[in-house]
Amino acid sequence: MSISHLADLANPAACPRLVIKVGSSLLVGKDGVRRDWLETLVKEIAVAKARGQEVIVVSSGAIALGAATLGLDKGGRGSLADAQAAAAVGQIALSGLWAELLGAHGLTAAQLLLTLEDLEDRRRYLNVTATLTRLLDAGAVPVINENDSVATQEIRFGDNDRLAARVAQAARASAVLLLSDVDGLYDRNPADPAARLQSEVRGVTAEVHAMASAGSASGMGSGGMTSKLQAAEIAERAGIALAIVNGTHDAPMARALKQGIGTLFLPKRKAAARKAWLGGRLRLKGALVIDAGAGRALAQGSSLLAAGITGIEGAFQRGDAIAIRDAAGAVLAHGLSEYDAGECARLIGRHSREHAEILGYAPRSAVVHRDQLVLL
Ligand code: GLU
Repeated sequence: MSISHLADLANPAACPRLVIKVGSSLLVGKDGVRRDWLETLVKEIAVAKARGQEVIVVSSGAIALGAATLGLDKGGRGSLADAQAAAAVGQIALSGLWAELLGAHGLTAAQLLLTLEDLEDRRRYLNVTATLTRLLDAGAVPVINENDSVATQEIRFGDNDRLAARVAQAARASAVLLLSDVDGLYDRNPADPAARLQSEVRGVTAEVHAMASAGSASGMGSGGMTSKLQAAEIAERAGIALAIVNGTHDAPMARALKQGIGTLFLPKRKAAARKAWLGGRLRLKGALVIDAGAGRALAQGSSLLAAGITGIEGAFQRGDAIAIRDAAGAVLAHGLSEYDAGECARLIGRHSREHAEILGYAPRSAVVHRDQLVLL
């Protein structure tokens, strides 16, 4: 049974494994932690567990909480050093709170702090999968956040929306529920009375992105609708449903799922796990620019050959993940390069039969083999 409505997220047959992302502005108010609200959510998590669903929580709030404790301005987001210090202080309180409230329902909380690279490196990613699987088998509720205190500006998610989608992929979850401070995606700025909530989205198209650019960003967190759509794209590619619902109400899951208030992004197709991981990569080591003919060949399922490459960017190594772009700059695919950037530079525009002579050793069958390539 697959997911086709918001209500299915509460159905263990359709959604045996659910990732719930809780945003900073829900967890932390002007007067500190919104404990009463969180108790209502944790009760819903306990109900979900009791009906047979496995639940993973991705919880924001460390920076906001730590900033309040340390008296830092701008919610702790004034500088990277502030955010890192605030997160270090806030994370202890945050995980303690989850452990306490889940414990009150007889549930065991398990903390994981992840960096972007833990999920970008294939071996570390599989390790996260193994840990999450073991924790869920043992009945625990993983509570995950980005390891903000060690993540640096360039190498971080920065928002827990995409982290939640990547975690869902690693955990092979059925769905992601993003609890936000808006009801979902509107077709224009929600402040506009003519704005209409989109209850279902199939495919995050350019038109859908245009809706979000007019949307909201909440004060505390760093997400906004743009990062939620990026999360939806990662989930979509991995065959995982993703919902954006309003978490500001008490017992928010019941309201959103029973009454069907929110936006449900339905996956189009399920890519093989490895390809989904590759497509969801956020940091790439370089790029290959290709001509129109090569673009058409890729679209038909071919590998990328050197003859169709017109440009190379970055100092990538063999095996690194790279973007494949057209001349206009649109990213067509992600793939793992069979050659390093220097070798690619010697081969571009050259026919495969010339490669052995140019390289002086046995060439590979393609620059990016179709098995190591995912179209976006
Ligand atoms: N990891 C950040 C925190 O715990 C939250 C990121 C976000 O706002 O999504 O404060």
